[in-house]
Amino acid sequence: MSLKEIDVIAFDADDTLWENENFFRDAEKEFCHIMEEYQSTENMMAELYRVEGQNMEMYGFGIKAFILSMMETALLVSDKQVRPDQMEAIIAIGKSMLHKDVVLLDGIRDLLEKLAPHYRLVVATKGDLLDQERKLAKSGLLKYFHHIEVMSNKREENYCELLRHLDLEAGKFMMIGNSLKSDVLPVVNLGGYGVHVPYHTTWEFEQMDPAEIKSDRFFELKEIHDVLTLFEEA
Ligand SMILES: [Mg+2]
Repeated sequence: MSLKEIDVIAFDADDTLWENENFFRDAEKEFCHIMEEYQSTENMMAELYRVEGQNMEMYGFGIKAFILSMMETALLVSDKQVRPDQMEAIIAIGKSMLHKDVVLLDGIRDLLEKLAPHYRLVVATKGDLLDQERKLAKSGLLKYFHHIEVMSNKREENYCELLRHLDLEAGKFMMIGNSLKSDVLPVVNLGGYGVHVPYHTTWEFEQMDPAEIKSDRFFELKEIHDVLTLFEEA
């Protein structure tokens, strides 16, 4: 087992290549503001998370799923009294999210520039296919990647599928991302390498304690650029 054997390095996209979760936090605040006459922010947030959790299997991940969950929550918390202008404002939150500029995280471009000549680089992301394609095109990062995989989920079976597509053993695969649950744990369990680079805010459903992952194929880094030091030390 050695980092020298790594052939493919996969990157999560949201909050690993570019900012994402903070837009959701802002949207949640806006949603609560629009609906403030009906219930407390605390109740509304609890209800929104509950509805999102319930819909995940059906809708998958991303902004479109989030819009539908906000609409459903609006009906619930207002006891169906939500007004058309409020519903319109909620839909507008989602549409403006879909039009946001792509803000790359610090050090990403330089890191990809340095890794691309030596490894096959892949994007492995959840979310809406259309939205992720839009962000990748806008990001200017497409040229660094051999393959883009928009996954319906990031469980072990989904990574198995990806490894099969890449015709790769797990021991030659490294996944880098901001979610321990989705980007690191399943990959480490399969025998691959998982690198965690936390983002300042983590979605409720992705929270996990790093101490729960016990493996010498798991690395916790502060900055994405520190990925290079892993290979220098190897
Ligand atoms: Mg992410």
